[in-house]
Amino acid sequence: MNIEFISDPQDWKEENMDVAVISGYILPDDLDSLQKIQNNSKRIFAYGDCTTTGGIFALANQRGHQVTPLKDLISNITNVNGCLGEIEELIAVINGEELQGNNPLCSVCKRKATCDYLDSVNRQIEIDDEETCFNDLGFLCNGFIAKKCKERCIDFNTPCRGCKPMVERSGIRMLGMFGTLMGNIEMATEHSEKGATDKLADADDDLTESLPDILGNFFRFTLLTSGLPRGRIQSSGNLLQDVFTGRLIEELPLITGLLGGNRSISLTLKLIETYEKANNIEVSTQTKKYRNELLSLEADLIEATNNKDAQKYKATTDKIRKIAGNMNLSNVYFGGFKQIIDDDVDFESYKSHIFEIVEGTYKNGSINYNIDPKGVIKEITIKEG
Ligand code: SF4
Ligand code: SF4
Repeated sequence: MNIEFISDPQDWKEENMDVAVISGYILPDDLDSLQKIQNNSKRIFAYGDCTTTGGIFALANQRGHQVTPLKDLISNITNVNGCLGEIEELIAVINGEELQGNNPLCSVCKRKATCDYLDSVNRQIEIDDEETCFNDLGFLCNGFIAKKCKERCIDFNTPCRGCKPMVERSGIRMLGMFGTLMGNIEMATEHSEKGATDKLADADDDLTESLPDILGNFFRFTLLTSGLPRGRIQSSGNLLQDVFTGRLIEELPLITGLLGGNRSISLTLKLIETYEKANNIEVSTQTKKYRNELLSLEADLIEATNNKDAQKYKATTDKIRKIAGNMNLSNVYFGGFKQIIDDDVDFESYKSHIFEIVEGTYKNGSINYNIDPKGVIKEITIKEG
């Protein structure tokens, strides 16, 4: 087969194609380019959540942006969901096969559910139990609504973020399920002209207090298909900054792992190291060694892409996955790694620390961010280049 990579469809010299695979986020202004592709293609595939549902970029719509699922702009497309989308699934649909969609992620998870009421809602920075279902420990795990996937963040001590939902309006269902577990949260009822009005508590709202970033936690990949009303907060003027602002500090590595393109690894490590440096978090020599290895693998990956060397590309991504978890870098974390990387080395020397949130402004070269006392990102700037 002939494969052509079109990075800028506006300048593309139109040619007939059997198959067009579109990835990345879409804005209404892309319509002309998309129609050009549609006019020249027998079949079109939307590959990955950014294209199928707006993905993580669509979180910026809460601040006035217009990220749009591809299917809302052009018709007759086939969606392959996921962040990242699985290459095996793309190959399958191109070959005309149906995707398996009915095998839940929970069925392949080693953690076991207790379904007890929660005493508290916790943050990922606090995980140290490797046996109980994340949700029963008070960490939000979207495995409940996700289908069995290849990457399995859950195998790297990372709750599933629901990048492959197997049900409609998955965020709303997760809210329902999590809300049920939180059934012992204090409730208050007060009279209003329209009858009784429930609220969570007389004093502070316990749910919002204990679970910041409801949007990012429940609708990270599905905001545009969830039917929620549009947000009213003003944009900073920059789409990436609008994605990050309001997210939790522990989400930073996962989001940069998704958004950093071919510089995901260096961007993610830079960000992690910025926080570690400011808070005197010491990392082991083993961790440093693995981080250096990842940086050199990133260089290999860029080289493989530039040279269109598919074999090297695959070998390099496999090595990255082994150290860093999936391509979202789910195993790379503040203070180290979340999980054993190799059975025959000493886990104690590089497992992640449980770390304290320290309010403040953090700077390191091209990265600036500041977080409030709860660890919510109030501002972030990342210079390009
Ligand atoms: S919800 Fe998450 S942690 Fe719980 S069983 Fe399912 S995949 Fe595992
Ligand atoms: S475990 Fe990770 S890759 Fe798999 S569905 Fe969940 S978020 Fe996506």
